[in-house]
Amino acid sequence: MNLILLQPDDFTAPGTVVLRDRRAEHAREVLQVREGDAVRVGILDGMTGTGQVIAATAAELTLEVVCNEPPPPPLPVTLLCALQRPKTLRKILQCAAAMGVKRIALLESWKVEKSYWQSPLLRPEALREQLILGLEQGRDTVLPQVTMHRRFRLLTEEVLPVLARGATALVAHPEAATSCPRGVNGPVVLAVGPEGGFTAYEIEKFAAAGFLPVGLGARVLRSEFAVAALLGRLF
Ligand code: SAM
Repeated sequence: MNLILLQPDDFTAPGTVVLRDRRAEHAREVLQVREGDAVRVGILDGMTGTGQVIAATAAELTLEVVCNEPPPPPLPVTLLCALQRPKTLRKILQCAAAMGVKRIALLESWKVEKSYWQSPLLRPEALREQLILGLEQGRDTVLPQVTMHRRFRLLTEEVLPVLARGATALVAHPEAATSCPRGVNGPVVLAVGPEGGFTAYEIEKFAAAGFLPVGLGARVLRSEFAVAALLGRLF
């Protein structure tokens, strides 16, 4: 946790927060804060700044906060990600939020295990929890938006062509003949496949919607590592 993310109900008075949850525990046990120390804080969907430790007991952490610095700029990317097993999805959500992605779309695809759509992780509060962990890691405050697209045909015929317009639209595919570009300027829409990859038919549908299949080289990465490698290369 590189920033303590604050929410409206943490405030007991203007400028004063009292924390009693994992954030207080982290400050106490990992950061080992003492009275008078300063910690980095941010307000959810707001500014970042400093929290002066007023009291740090075993039960709670009291901070006086001043937040007047903007969070880091967002990445101009929409991440389309085939739905993954929950363990992998948690990592992808955290990674994407830490790296500054603000729009994430979870997609149906042929090799997505159907039961993943029933996962409790897809509940709004569970998604939010993972995204907040990522924001805390990346010292960001702005919560990404997550959408879900369970109908692949509707997605490819109606949603993807609109997303691709005016953007660099890429679908990551280990078999692609073209290398993933580096240091792209302007908006990007990036699609990442499921554990078993996109099928040839799905890649064709992406291409028909204006997406260029791109590769990262001979090594095939797990989806969560591919997301980090692709974002690191694109921006
Ligand atoms: N056997 C699958 C295949 O060949 O497509 C492996 C899928 S990989 C575990 C999951 C996703 O990560 C892929 O669908 C792709 O989007 C991305 N990915 C992983 N390694 C990649 C690479 N070397 N180049 C491009 N994309 C990659």
